[in-house]
Amino acid sequence: MTEILALRAFDDNYIWLLRSAGYAAVVDPGDAAPVLAHLEQSGDRLCAVLATHHHPDHVGGLAEILGRFPVPVFGPRLENIAGVSHPLEGGERIELPQLALELEVISVPGHTRGHIAYYGPSLGDSGALFCGDTLFGAGCGRLFEGTPTQMLDSLSRLAVLPAPTLVYCAHEYTQSNMRFALAVEPDNIAIQKRSEDVARERAANRATIPTRIQLELETNPFLRWDAPGVRAAAASRLGHQPADAVETFTAIREWKNRF
Ligand code: ZN
Ligand code: FE
Repeated sequence: MTEILALRAFDDNYIWLLRSAGYAAVVDPGDAAPVLAHLEQSGDRLCAVLATHHHPDHVGGLAEILGRFPVPVFGPRLENIAGVSHPLEGGERIELPQLALELEVISVPGHTRGHIAYYGPSLGDSGALFCGDTLFGAGCGRLFEGTPTQMLDSLSRLAVLPAPTLVYCAHEYTQSNMRFALAVEPDNIAIQKRSEDVARERAANRATIPTRIQLELETNPFLRWDAPGVRAAAASRLGHQPADAVETFTAIREWKNRF
């Protein structure tokens, strides 16, 4: 059984560490220090690094980690990340033999142009997704390099994963995202309840991640482009009914950028 640990980095990043039988792999090591500290304390041997996209808060620790442990590094082919030995574009299956783990690679451009996600159907009680800065708790990444259509397609690929799938995103943004979700759909009972749950967890300094696809489908405005409440919110921003999902998504994303 693979255990998944959160290593905290910077203000609100999570570096996810997968460990089993004395081996470990890390996802998005923006900082080497917490990774090296874990390896030192636990005695785990590092066997791989997985990167979702090129931003420094996700790959800034790579050089130092590789200087100590020259392990395979998986990452997006479309992005220029020093140290990536196994470039990926989505659609591949990768094996981490030391962890007896197979992961599926999903192309999720939008936040960046080559962003990828890793999905492990056999992880945890019902599968786990490592999605970097694409899908957040009640939110999605900013569109730095991609179009709204690309991001909508990317989020659609994640939305169809099995509903109980655990979602391990790279930031603890859920509480501020919930404030926005409530502004979009003030009458949504699931959003009201999640806001209370998240506030309680954060007040106790506990993580709100992982979340699950099911909870995101119920409460994340960026997966709810077909929900009447989200369409209505988009219509009031636009001054007319949105023609399609892209127009709804674009209006909600632009509102969030200025929220
Ligand atoms: Zn990023
Ligand atoms: Fe980030």
